[in-house]
Amino acid sequence: MKKNQSLSPLCDAAFVRAFLTMLASILSLALLSLSSSAIAASADVRSAADIAFEQYADRALIEMWRTFPEQGVSVGYYKHAQEMTVPDAASRARAIAFYDRQLAMLTKFDTARLSASHRVDLTLMRNQFEASRWDVTTFKSWQWQPSHYNIGNDFGLLLNTDYAPLETRLRHVMTRLAKVSAYYAAAKDSINEPTREHTELSILQNKGALSLFDDDLVKRVKGSKLSAAEKAMFQSRVEKAREAISGFIAHLTKLTELNTQLAPGNARSFRIGRELYAKKFAYDIQSGFSVDELHKRAIAEKASLHDAMEKRARALWPKYMDVKQMPGDRLLMIRAVIDELATRHTKRDAFVETVRKQIPALEKFVRDKNLLNQDRTRPLLVREMPRYMRGDGAGASVSAAGPYDPKANTYYNVTPLDEMSDAEAQSELREYNDWTLQILNIHEAIPGHYTQLVHANKSKSRIKTIFGNGSMVEGWAVYGERMMLDAGYGNNDDEIWLMWMKWNLRTVVNTILDIEIQTMNMSKEAAITMMMREAFQEEAEATNKWKRATLNQVQLTSYYNGYAEITALRNEMREMQGDKFSVKAFNNQFLSYGSAPVKSIRELMLMSSR
Ligand code: ZN
Repeated sequence: MKKNQSLSPLCDAAFVRAFLTMLASILSLALLSLSSSAIAASADVRSAADIAFEQYADRALIEMWRTFPEQGVSVGYYKHAQEMTVPDAASRARAIAFYDRQLAMLTKFDTARLSASHRVDLTLMRNQFEASRWDVTTFKSWQWQPSHYNIGNDFGLLLNTDYAPLETRLRHVMTRLAKVSAYYAAAKDSINEPTREHTELSILQNKGALSLFDDDLVKRVKGSKLSAAEKAMFQSRVEKAREAISGFIAHLTKLTELNTQLAPGNARSFRIGRELYAKKFAYDIQSGFSVDELHKRAIAEKASLHDAMEKRARALWPKYMDVKQMPGDRLLMIRAVIDELATRHTKRDAFVETVRKQIPALEKFVRDKNLLNQDRTRPLLVREMPRYMRGDGAGASVSAAGPYDPKANTYYNVTPLDEMSDAEAQSELREYNDWTLQILNIHEAIPGHYTQLVHANKSKSRIKTIFGNGSMVEGWAVYGERMMLDAGYGNNDDEIWLMWMKWNLRTVVNTILDIEIQTMNMSKEAAITMMMREAFQEEAEATNKWKRATLNQVQLTSYYNGYAEITALRNEMREMQGDKFSVKAFNNQFLSYGSAPVKSIRELMLMSSR
């Protein structure tokens, strides 16, 4: 995982990288924000219980990074950067002991005496420790997901992040390299009845890890100020590490070739089934909805989006299409209009510049329409995606300061199209056409991820940052798109609404797919048909999504779940407050709680409006 994190529906592929461990995926989301221990009014007065809780939380984090040094590095805590965890039974026992210890500590706090914000912190910590414990003891992803084992991200972070002088970092890397053989030996021992899908992913990713230890690294070491003896030792450890990775790849490859466990029809299914799914959904999403409720909602939403899209597409047909050739099938009719609109887009070499120019317009619209507070002292810097971050499929992402590096700039990374083939660039431009590119910018930047981050940064507590809720973060960005259009962004044109609906349909269909694939045996054919016919996607996108849905569970529901929960809460507050309701007040208050689960924010907001 990179220090800089990507979050967007665009960055679907970026998420695949983050699935490697359950905790890691949660950390990746959490990095986006430094969140609020300061709930506007209530946090000003800190009780003795609050102070005790804060002290406990600080100690728990220090112990956590000591127990899981790689996770420390992923949030910018480098004290244990030279340590490497060997993923054996002993390390799993240590992890369980850590979770048990923390869970026991958490029971000692009387929640009635804590501030509302600390109650949320406590809930987040308990949920995270229970979830991680469950992953080790019940879900056992370490056993059946060989993709769990990959040293590339951790070493990549140390080599590519400028957290210390190069020589110090190389020494950290060298110390860790000594354990790579033990790491992969433990990995081999741990794997049992893997799925074919996670085995193939692991082979692919470990080949990527191998490329990290290539001639470039050797050259870098040679050019450094390490002593000659150190350089020689580095070289020999790199060679041994390469052997260990290659050996692991060969081991997995043999499993897929010979082992009857992985023969078609024999391998463990990637589908986790209803029971595990419900549990994982409860831990990862922390939704106010049950899985069944969310599923029903998504199906109803798909139908109502189709109705609304039909109206918009019919209205647009005479403007763009031949009236005589309107298809009778409404889904084909909608698709024809979408395909025609998609041909209107910026020029290939102007892509990054077009994004850059749109940001001030978004900022101005939010200000003119009085939608929420903005902070000019924390500007968003648009830049070309740094090279070391490219290649994981994310075309755009927001890089935020981590919880241990809060003064860093916030960047909006946009990958220029100049290195793509003509066909790839054309496809990217059609996808991010004149309308969708604006929606992307709303989602990523203003008032989406970047704005949420600025609000969450207003306070100092690390807990909601590190244990923050991904569904709230993604849900906010999706809610922000709709909020802008509702306020008249894009002049209420049929074009931007139709394109937004297509974009929104993706999050809805992601939810349906995830639930039906994992718990209802949905076939690949049915999934691809739903994406292409009912969500108007291209075959490549649909095929990639199928793959992603076989490799992870639950995360695909987070976008729509968060959006649905926030929208429901907004409606509830509007109902309750009547004439006194203001979008701006709602948004500011909602964002003031940091990246907490929407259901927790709901409790706090309802309580404060009583
Ligand atoms: Zn996002």
